[in-house]
Amino acid sequence: MAKMRKKQDLAVKTCLTCGRPFAWRRKWEKVWDEVKYCSERCRSERKSGQTRVLVK
Ligand SMILES: [Zn+2]
Repeated sequence: MAKMRKKQDLAVKTCLTCGRPFAWRRKWEKVWDEVKYCSERCRSERKSGQTRVLVK
């Protein structure tokens, strides 16, 4: 008998920007290995403000 495993448990990562765990989404199906951020916002924040200096 095969063990049943939840897909969500297999596909959870921690966002490098906000540090929160986020779950796999269908839009990341092809790029899941490269996904490091929970959202587009976190991704751009990380890119533009690594030193966390506010420009605005
Ligand atoms: Zn995030």
